[in-house]
Amino acid sequence: MKGMLISTRDKNKTPISYTDALLQGLAPDGGLYVPESYPQISLTELRELKNSPYVDIAFKVKSELIGDFIPPVKLKELLSAAYSAERFPVPNGNIVPVTKISDGIYLQNLSLGPTAAFKDMALQQLGQEMNFELERRDENLVLLGATSGDTGSAAEAALKGLPRAKLFMTSPEVGMSDFQKAQMGALSGDNIFNISIKGRFDDCQDLVKELKKDPEFAKLGAVNSINWGRISSQIPYYFSGYLQVAKKVGDPVDFVVPSGNFGNILSAYVAKKMGLPIRRLIVATNENSVLDTLIKTGVYKLTSAVVTSSPSMDISKSSNYERLVFDLLGRRGDKVTDYMLEFGTLGTVDLVKYGLTSDRFERLGFFSGTSTHADRLNTIRKTFDESGIVIDPHTADGVKVAQDFFKGDGVPMVCMATALSVKFEDTIKEAIGEVPSRPDRFVGLVSGSEGFTLMGANANELKDFIRKNT
Ligand SMILES: *Cc1c(COP(=O)(O)O)cnc(C)c1O
Repeated sequence: MKGMLISTRDKNKTPISYTDALLQGLAPDGGLYVPESYPQISLTELRELKNSPYVDIAFKVKSELIGDFIPPVKLKELLSAAYSAERFPVPNGNIVPVTKISDGIYLQNLSLGPTAAFKDMALQQLGQEMNFELERRDENLVLLGATSGDTGSAAEAALKGLPRAKLFMTSPEVGMSDFQKAQMGALSGDNIFNISIKGRFDDCQDLVKELKKDPEFAKLGAVNSINWGRISSQIPYYFSGYLQVAKKVGDPVDFVVPSGNFGNILSAYVAKKMGLPIRRLIVATNENSVLDTLIKTGVYKLTSAVVTSSPSMDISKSSNYERLVFDLLGRRGDKVTDYMLEFGTLGTVDLVKYGLTSDRFERLGFFSGTSTHADRLNTIRKTFDESGIVIDPHTADGVKVAQDFFKGDGVPMVCMATALSVKFEDTIKEAIGEVPSRPDRFVGLVSGSEGFTLMGANANELKDFIRKNT
């Protein structure tokens, strides 16, 4: 049934509704929710969406994923509010525009929302849906999140001032840009709490999972991409991007996605499973190249993440990969449980041991590449010289890998622009010698570490802090 979800670790496949999963985040068994089956959008339906406004495309795609768990009229209203001209101030109404940067290679700008990163695309809608569902149930929700930079401000901008939600957001003490810190600091107060953790993003993410295991905190909601509500709101822009570049509906298109927690590329994969004619799903990583190794060899090996100039990708435990593993292992919850347990215990796990060949990813359309700080600087400079566009360091990771994979065989390649360059002024200055000009809405932002509470990577300390403030 449309809108029914199952946990990746549940061998009995007990379904729960989209809206239950929305408020639950992580499944009680530690798994992630995925659709019971992937709904299909036919080429005929796709053709009808050509030239439609973004909200109409999102409505079609989300309806297929939600079924009747949010009434259609209401869903349309929530989407219109999430993607309003006020929140996405664009001149011509296209909030995810595609621009050509060289022959056959395009950028899709996903960063025109309130906090200038693609996270706004999902979190604005997640905030609307959560608010709607909490009102309907007459319930309140305490949410706990982890951010390596962009989820924090995007979630805070989406939930700020909502009377029924309280958000605690952990972030690594070192790694985020001054701009990202300033954005989050400015949003603290009311129902928003920023917690700076002496550790890496992986430590923050581990803390969130650790607290969820404690019955007292099991009901904490999630804003990270472990929440299916977020993944599902990232799928529509692949449909939009496709329709903007495909000469004819049905033609193949490649997508390149700068990846960290594997959420954005997983959304592309689901779009493909829903029938969107995507040829290659190309994962781009930075120096934290765990995903690149995984896709090339089938071995998922934990290393400790290093701080780079594309900090939102400084992740070595990519949560959403589990959703793909579920499909790779024949949608068998018991096998996924074993696989994740092996990974958790040994820090490494090989798909070959689970009966799969290492070309398994390729057969699903997955490819991958990496880039370095020097590559990012070169790519930012070159793209600026050739097109006049200043891309951000994460987008640069994607464009670099896109160029490595570009075939020039007539199949358009779309690179996801996951943040605006204004968020990473230092790296841009290093690349092209000047800082990007700030859009009006960010002019007053000043850096500093105000608006954060500092603590160790310690679950008990975090629990106390949450108890004290709820
Ligand atoms: C979050 C983020 C990414 C990584 O996205 P995932 O869904 O975690 O793979 C890439 N670029 C930017 C700018 C981000 O904020």
